[in-house]
Amino acid sequence: MDNPALRIRELTGLLNRYAYEYYTLDAPSVPDAEYDTLFRELETLEAARPDLRLPDSPTLRVGGEPLAGFESVRHEVPMLSLSNAFSPQHESGTFDHAEMYTFDGRVRGSLGGRQPEYVVEPKFDGLAVSLLYRSGVLERAATRGDGSVGENVTPNVKTIANVPLRLHGDQVPELIEVRGEVMMLKADFAALNHQQAAAGQKLFANPRNAAAGSLRQLDSRITARRRLHFSAYAIARREGGFAPATHFEELEYLKKLGFSLPEGHYGVFPDIAGALAFYEAMQQQRPKLPYEIDGMVVKVNSLAEQQKLGFISRAPRWAVAHKFPAEEALTVVEAIDVQVGRTGAVTPVARLQPVFVGGVTVTNATLHNEGETQRKDVRVGDTVVVRRAGDVIPEVVRVVLERRPMSEAAAVSDGLQGDMFAGPSESRSEPVYPPYCLPRHCPICGSGIEREEDEAVARCSGGMLCRAQRAQGLIHFASRKAMDIEGLGQRQIEQLVAQDWVKHFADLYRLDIPTLQQMKENADKSETQPENGGETLSDGRKNGKKQPPVKWAENILAGIEASKQPELARFLFALGIRHVGERTAKSLAQAFGTLETVRRVPEPLLACLPDIGTVVAHSIARFFAQTGQQAMIDELLAAGVSPKSQPVTLLVSQYAQPQKWLARLSGYKTSETRAAALWDLAGRSMAGLINDNALPAQWQQWRSRPENLALLHSIEAFLNGMPSENPNTVSDGPAALAGKTFVLTGTLPTLKRDEAQALIEAAGGKVSGSVSKKTDYVVAGEAAGSKLEKAQALGVAVLDEAQLKALLDSGK
Ligand code: NAD
Repeated sequence: MDNPALRIRELTGLLNRYAYEYYTLDAPSVPDAEYDTLFRELETLEAARPDLRLPDSPTLRVGGEPLAGFESVRHEVPMLSLSNAFSPQHESGTFDHAEMYTFDGRVRGSLGGRQPEYVVEPKFDGLAVSLLYRSGVLERAATRGDGSVGENVTPNVKTIANVPLRLHGDQVPELIEVRGEVMMLKADFAALNHQQAAAGQKLFANPRNAAAGSLRQLDSRITARRRLHFSAYAIARREGGFAPATHFEELEYLKKLGFSLPEGHYGVFPDIAGALAFYEAMQQQRPKLPYEIDGMVVKVNSLAEQQKLGFISRAPRWAVAHKFPAEEALTVVEAIDVQVGRTGAVTPVARLQPVFVGGVTVTNATLHNEGETQRKDVRVGDTVVVRRAGDVIPEVVRVVLERRPMSEAAAVSDGLQGDMFAGPSESRSEPVYPPYCLPRHCPICGSGIEREEDEAVARCSGGMLCRAQRAQGLIHFASRKAMDIEGLGQRQIEQLVAQDWVKHFADLYRLDIPTLQQMKENADKSETQPENGGETLSDGRKNGKKQPPVKWAENILAGIEASKQPELARFLFALGIRHVGERTAKSLAQAFGTLETVRRVPEPLLACLPDIGTVVAHSIARFFAQTGQQAMIDELLAAGVSPKSQPVTLLVSQYAQPQKWLARLSGYKTSETRAAALWDLAGRSMAGLINDNALPAQWQQWRSRPENLALLHSIEAFLNGMPSENPNTVSDGPAALAGKTFVLTGTLPTLKRDEAQALIEAAGGKVSGSVSKKTDYVVAGEAAGSKLEKAQALGVAVLDEAQLKALLDSGK
């Protein structure tokens, strides 16, 4: 810096402002590491040029001004700060402890070369308070304030559950002033911010600010509602009671008097090497601790030696705050991209100027979702606080708004954004970049990005059309409850997708042995095979047994071939339509019977099906509305896949009466009762609904939109093609079991449980998991247990497999 006077003035002003935000407002705008770096720069400049130090330099002061609303308390023994020492951590994880060795050297020098013991204890990230007890009773509690004058927060401190109001034990002194830290435990902090968010109130930046903000409330009822915690770490003065000779004895005495101490997290060490080893161990534990700590405090143990060492202006010479590497740092957002996950979840990600934080260089940070990005108002060009704690994925905590790139409105104008009414003289300062919005289309496959109501996460609707989701989609497709392709595991699917052999479901059915061998060769090349790793796709040996070289590939192809005639419900489930689980797929199969029909069911009719609400119906309809998805199904059929048709056992006339689907039309708000009246007015006919011009205006208005009219036509066409009450159209369905509830228990002689269930459902029955009075039949096999007993107790009919088969046959 060419001009130290200017830089000193600049730093003094900036640090004083940050200190005001931190100590007085409990709302810092920059991370501690940023403050510490600037503070050190100022210290170095002032050391070189003491004549340039300003009278309001933060290096001369402790803390901030007390808040005006509180009564002031003058500290008999000043409450000081601590000098800091840093141990830069390399990417390899090792620390450079040079500053701590300097501290130790200085201490030993002042003690005439004697080796002192050190106590090492957590440096809590809260705020210091001083508690005065007279005759064992808490008389007054004060914050540190500026070190000489603090705020009287007695009523508030009394609400902290682990602050003793009366001291314990048989060595209670006449008078004692205990120093310690008020903090908020991490779990309580998370709960508080959750509550604040739910109530639409501002969030606290970190547990320290939450603790300080909660303690420094003029209304102690608010403090009482916030869960605070106190940990004692020193005795400032004492009259009577026990007289400790060391700091460690002091801590043990405080414990006996009833104070909480961080059990297991402090200790006494014979030299600095021991202290440093403990520091490193605690740094490892830091993410798992229940409270936030930003370092360890290293203190000379002997009180006599402490006295000998004394104080510098704002801190003791016998102690140092040995800070941990920062978990928060400042950097700049260069771009905001989106990432598409394996399930289609779309996450905005900030691309950052590389920054070293939490022990690694961070270049990306998650922004979680669009709502969160907008709430934090993160924009390109912003300077942001990035946090990386432990192994947690780095995240953008907040924006430093004052550093947002701004430009004059007139200057931004690119012919589109210019404000016609603002002349050059009226130019306003505007952010250069607009608020963030998710793109509307997936950057990978171009399909629409959609977000369902009440869901924070947006998703790419491409499914298998999207490369990011392919492997996941295929794993689901091949899984046991879907197409049940034996031999084709997750690993092979991932390799087939990674090498682009399979882009669509249908590609599976075009695989051949040379392709599979090529895939394996490529995969082998890109991976180092573990020795004797029991590798399935190895050189033909598995677990020591020699297999013919292509047997594994033949097995996969056989599994694929065998999957070509799935039950309709399995096929629908396999497609991976969002919200369509096994149960929904079964309902669809029962209601529509064939794939051809399912592919064209109008959304309002879907929404009437049992187990299917409007969200699921919308998801199904949206899936089949995409030409890409329809093309994919056509390809599967062309590749020889042929889902079995089944009799319709759920009649449209039973679940989708006109008043029901009319009440589920998108954009037409009505109740089922009013919809029934409309249906009557329309002469109980689709033709009436479509053509009658005497129907209520609201209906006519809705109908006048071409897409709505088209929907009515498609419903009409669809209903005309579906079996209704006409018994002839339904007759191929063995409805003998319609409405009957079955429970399966034990092992049947020939049928697997899945198969028995499928047969019962195909015949219109339902399978439930537990026996009740409503159960019609319990089908019991070998080793049937409590369900059989319950059936017998309730008098429910019990069938064996043969009787079940007979019952099924009776319906044909
Ligand atoms: P300090 O926090 O570095 O150290 C002194 C304080 O440590 C004590 O007052 C006490 O409250 C606390 N402490 C915790 N555990 C302790 C223990 N076991 N023994 C003794 N004391 C313990 O000093 P400070 O003057 O309170 O604050 C300076 C620090 O505050 C800076 O290093 C910076 O990280 C932060 N700060 C940040 C901003 C910002 O804008 N982000 C502004 C001002 C200060």
